Amino acid sequence: MVQVNADYLKLKAGYLFPEISRRIKEFVSKNPNADLIRLGIGDVTEPLPLACREAMKAAIEEMGTDEGFRGYGPEQGYEWLRESISIHDYLSRGCEISAEEIFISDGSKCDSSNILDILGKENRIAVTDPVYPVYVDTNVMTGRTGEANSAGEYKGLSYIPINSGNGFEAAIPKEKFDLIYLCFPNNPTGAVATREQLVSWVKYAKENNSLILFDAAYEAFIKDDSIPHSIFEIEGSKDCAIEFRSFSKNAGFTGTRCAFTVIPKSLKGKAGSEEVDLWSLWNRRQSTKFNGVSYVVQRGAEAVYTKEGQKQIKKLVSFYMDNAQIIKSDLTTAGFEVFGAINAPYAWIKTPNKMSSWDFFDFLLEKTNVVGTPGSGFGAAGEGYFRLSAFNSRENVEKAMQRILKLN
Ligand SMILES: *Cc1c(COP(=O)(O)O)cnc(C)c1O
Repeated sequence: MVQVNADYLKLKAGYLFPEISRRIKEFVSKNPNADLIRLGIGDVTEPLPLACREAMKAAIEEMGTDEGFRGYGPEQGYEWLRESISIHDYLSRGCEISAEEIFISDGSKCDSSNILDILGKENRIAVTDPVYPVYVDTNVMTGRTGEANSAGEYKGLSYIPINSGNGFEAAIPKEKFDLIYLCFPNNPTGAVATREQLVSWVKYAKENNSLILFDAAYEAFIKDDSIPHSIFEIEGSKDCAIEFRSFSKNAGFTGTRCAFTVIPKSLKGKAGSEEVDLWSLWNRRQSTKFNGVSYVVQRGAEAVYTKEGQKQIKKLVSFYMDNAQIIKSDLTTAGFEVFGAINAPYAWIKTPNKMSSWDFFDFLLEKTNVVGTPGSGFGAAGEGYFRLSAFNSRENVEKAMQRILKLN
């Protein structure tokens, strides 16, 4: 019989979202008429911006002509999209990131896992706790960890707690880590990293020759002008950071699929005693294992940077952020302690009366038919917290909040 990758067997069986589905199914079978409102999974709900749809329609028509037809595109993405990203997302904010340093992909989720392809197995790795589960599970799947303990913490990974005790700041470690995953604005806590914090992280990374993997999927939701949108706004970061970005949340591309990864040309790693640049390895990896994002979708993504596109995505983001504000203010009125939801589309709620995350999940489902996400599903330090997402219709958000307000 064929051997399987036994590292997969180390993964915690009760993965978060399947367990949520199981509990919902059970609840619905007992309560078939319940009007569920799902504020759980972080998927967008509003339609695609018009500018993107028009650009994609035009691109499809182009593909139907002799002159306009295109086959395989560049594995790195089309130059025009990479140029637009460089100009609008980076140069405009004072970050010297060139089009060449930008690699277009079909998602940040895959990029943040695929990056392990070009990184050694000996690296000492730190993640925050709570954490976006992809960072942890992909390290498990690729044999970079040992087994999990009963709290779900894997041997071989280090966890940096982010909780109300430290103001949801990821404290700079005393030990040396080679690889650090940071996600700001944070999923699930909705916390942001200030410029000072990011400066400290870059200083740490440079002193320890570490690499920061910075996930900025939610940068568009930052309202506070003093908060950096990119790790590359920090001096020195081009020697110690890779950034992941996505059109999923700012432009509603979760089902359309387009994202990008920035690998500065100056970024170096080590193979034995030899210095190697990471850009070349990633370029090699993508050229071998990836055949690019569809032309049509890249034209759709490019339209995000047009004047109309910018107006439309700003409207989309404000719509969700108004939801976030409603959630935060109503839950606060209802007596909950609520974090996040100011510069991010997630509210991170302390469960009342020291209830466990899953008990609160069941309680909210029973009493209000509102579905959220138990904090413990994002890591041991998420226990006692609960995530509500602002990605929903106004009607559903208001209805959910009315029900929660009636709880007491
Ligand atoms: C939604 C999300 C992404 C985006 O992933 P895609 O694969 O581009 O849709 C990336 N990181 C985090 C933390 C997210 O929540």
